[in-house]
Amino acid sequence: MMDAIILDRFGAPEVLRFGQVERPSIRADQLLIRVAACGVCGHDLLNRAGHFAGTHLPAVLGHEIAGTVDDVGDLVTRFKVGDRVALLQRQSCGRCRSCREGRENLCRLGDGFYGEGSSGGYGQFVVASERNTVGLPAEIPFEVGAVLSCAVGTGLHALLRARVQAGDSVVVTGAGGGVGLNTVQLARLMGLRTIAIATSDAKIKQLQASGADEVIVAPDGVFHEQVRASSAGEGAAAVIEITGTPTFNSSIRAVRPGGRLVLVGNVNPGNVALNPAVAILKEIEVIGSAHAVVADLIRVVDLVKHQRLVPLISATLPIAQAAVAHRMLAQRAAVGRIVLMHG
Ligand SMILES: [Zn+2]
Ligand SMILES: [Zn+2]
Repeated sequence: MMDAIILDRFGAPEVLRFGQVERPSIRADQLLIRVAACGVCGHDLLNRAGHFAGTHLPAVLGHEIAGTVDDVGDLVTRFKVGDRVALLQRQSCGRCRSCREGRENLCRLGDGFYGEGSSGGYGQFVVASERNTVGLPAEIPFEVGAVLSCAVGTGLHALLRARVQAGDSVVVTGAGGGVGLNTVQLARLMGLRTIAIATSDAKIKQLQASGADEVIVAPDGVFHEQVRASSAGEGAAAVIEITGTPTFNSSIRAVRPGGRLVLVGNVNPGNVALNPAVAILKEIEVIGSAHAVVADLIRVVDLVKHQRLVPLISATLPIAQAAVAHRMLAQRAAVGRIVLMHG
């Protein structure tokens, strides 16, 4: 058996219960990971509330995982017991067309997201494969390693999907959030002119420190006129849309002719109204970007190891306080990720 935060029913943070569940077992091609740290993500709040059809109860949430290898199957060659590792947030099959093309984030045949298709990092142990495991250098603490895939890799993947080049302007919505702050840091490393969209004044200083060239505070989700005004009336080469429905309409209007709107996050599941003419007349590309691939995670580990990027961790809490962490995230009180630690 193992300790875990268990979700028996969907609902408010209080439904998260500390208890014991069966320890997962591995196949010959898998690794057993002893979880040291697990990040808390907006995705977890949606999952806990019952928004994901693939989550079957009882469930153990948590897809932002770092820890040590506790056991390996006979077919595992690249990792050994005791290795420190960070995991990609979902498991792919390794055989389908998406996996063969290095787009394993699109695989539909593997075990999927931790916390949905498989038992997640709010438990003491998780199963991984070599395909979603990356070595974590000793310089990077577990609480930082835990957030590299989701909170940093997601932003890197989106910026790569945007096909931007040094000198281009890029808008980042939800910039004060866990993914947003890291995306702003990544944009600076890529030599982009970065316009950060935030919902309150509280995060302006942090965004400037993270490398934002301009911060627009837009509590109503409307900012495209300001973006155009600061880019010779044109708009930005790309908008990285991390917020979703509340900002979508202003985001697409902030894109310059021939530019790209990359959809990464959606805090309020639901539909948006789109007048097709907006995209047609400016030949705007609307591009989906789904979390990260292992190549992104490898790059992020390297950037953080060499301190070119410092992911912000706002708090670490013992795993038993998962409900507290969910409430803190829902109130958007924290700057940076909250990470749960296993004892
Ligand atoms: Zn996440
Ligand atoms: Zn696959």
